Amino acid sequence: MNIAIIGSGIGGLAAAIRLSVKGHNVKVYEKNNQPGGKISELRMEGYRFDTGPSLFTLPNLVDELYELCGENSNADLPYLLLENNCKYFFSDQTEFNFYHNKKLLRKEIEIKTNENAETILHRLKQSEEMYNVSAPVFIFNSLRKYSNFTTAPYRKMLLKVLKLRANLTMHNANKHDFKDPNMVQLFDRYATYNGSNPYKAPATLNMIAHLENNIGAYFPLNGMYSIVNGLFQLAEKKGVKFEFNSLVEEIIVQNKIAIGIKTSKKVESYDLIVSDCDSKYLSTNMLRHPHQNRINKSEPSSSALIFYWGINKVFESLEMHNILFSNDYKQEFDHIFNHHTLSEEPTVYIFISSKIVKSDAPAGCENWFVMINAPSNNEQNWEEFIKAARKNIVNKINKTLRTDIEKHIICEHIASPLTIEKNTLSPNGALYGNSSNSMFAAFMRHPNWLSDIKNLYFVGGSVHPGGGIPLCLASAKIVDQEIPLAYEN
Ligand code: FAD
Repeated sequence: MNIAIIGSGIGGLAAAIRLSVKGHNVKVYEKNNQPGGKISELRMEGYRFDTGPSLFTLPNLVDELYELCGENSNADLPYLLLENNCKYFFSDQTEFNFYHNKKLLRKEIEIKTNENAETILHRLKQSEEMYNVSAPVFIFNSLRKYSNFTTAPYRKMLLKVLKLRANLTMHNANKHDFKDPNMVQLFDRYATYNGSNPYKAPATLNMIAHLENNIGAYFPLNGMYSIVNGLFQLAEKKGVKFEFNSLVEEIIVQNKIAIGIKTSKKVESYDLIVSDCDSKYLSTNMLRHPHQNRINKSEPSSSALIFYWGINKVFESLEMHNILFSNDYKQEFDHIFNHHTLSEEPTVYIFISSKIVKSDAPAGCENWFVMINAPSNNEQNWEEFIKAARKNIVNKINKTLRTDIEKHIICEHIASPLTIEKNTLSPNGALYGNSSNSMFAAFMRHPNWLSDIKNLYFVGGSVHPGGGIPLCLASAKIVDQEIPLAYEN
């Protein structure tokens, strides 16, 4: 078949590779001048920054793409397992390292928390069990296919449904299970991994902790953008064609069959089309379908304010991933999701890829990606928000690291919900499509295909199973399983 893929985000790249391996002719249309979408990079004054994702989990899903092509990812995309998943700085001045090694972790819990180590280790086991039970049903499967609801994995999940704790919020489950408020805050944070609010998101999402802490947090030896470079080269090797600077304006549907695409320059016919576009952008601009009204009304995920700072010093007390927690997590999420504003005392995430990728900063320097969670864009005054947030972030860093960080910033670039929206066509600057702030969110996401439009499929972070690199890769896998080897019209 001749297949068009719209968008070269990680979901689009994975779909392109999978479908070309099946022998189809695949062409990817991308409005930007480079592949990757939210996975992007920035170079300034001798520093390199990964501008989007920084945490790489379930790398086996990327390896699988190489294996499908008969290649080995080790050579093109080497990555390592982090020994310390993340360093947490709590407002009571506790500094806690979440080690991958369970022996080290046990010691750290015993020394630094008021929690019994067994309680935390038991929680990690529970997260693993939740993931193992629900992933085959909710992550690597379409929720659209009713026959899936009679399969063995689905029956197994039903038997263990109470263990998924979907009737509790993440925060209530964490508060119930842990007596140390620092541990409650730490485990609440996993809601932000898909742009959600732990005070509303179902406790089922506590399974996210399993990916980072049991399976592991990984990092590509050449930075996050090397994932895109690697997959782009793999796709080209398999014969996939790319057309950059090419915005698709419309998906052409005739008699309930998708038959082609329209760009500003031309109309092209295709046997099948895969969209890697944000589902809200798609429904507003490219495809009218009654089903989309429901999608458009759903609450967007959170967005982010990011400061990329070239720092002229090495901070030995920091790891690659660092969290400087606020002293009131609840008010922070109220600001983001209820008032669409920013807290004056935000949790600050500092990601420093140069801790591993030495070439990402000049000698004796570090590349800081400093991020706070932000509300999705609702036409707030971002200029004012950025000014206030920068001041609050600097104060927080100075207080926590006992430094004067302004003195060490030698160059700066800023990303906001507005720039994220513009660069990746993600309405409201939402990082992960819609939020998962209800137990029904998984069923409300845009499906991987529509029952009444043939030859049209959907991948990427705003469709089932959701946002984040692993889930986007899963969406491509689901779609690949559904697309036939030959054109059946
Ligand atoms: P996108 O990245 O959304 O890209 C879509 C592409 O399609 C874009 O290039 C766009 O230009 C193009 N496009 C859209 N419409 C059209 C059109 N009509 N015509 C032509 N081209 C079009 N995930 C993690 O796993 N770990 C993290 O640590 C993490 N942190 C993040 C931090 C930030 C700041 C951001 C922004 C995201 C983060 N994510 C993280 C989420 C992750 O980046 C995304 O879920 C994932 O990359 C989205 O991939 P996608 O396939 O949906 O495509």
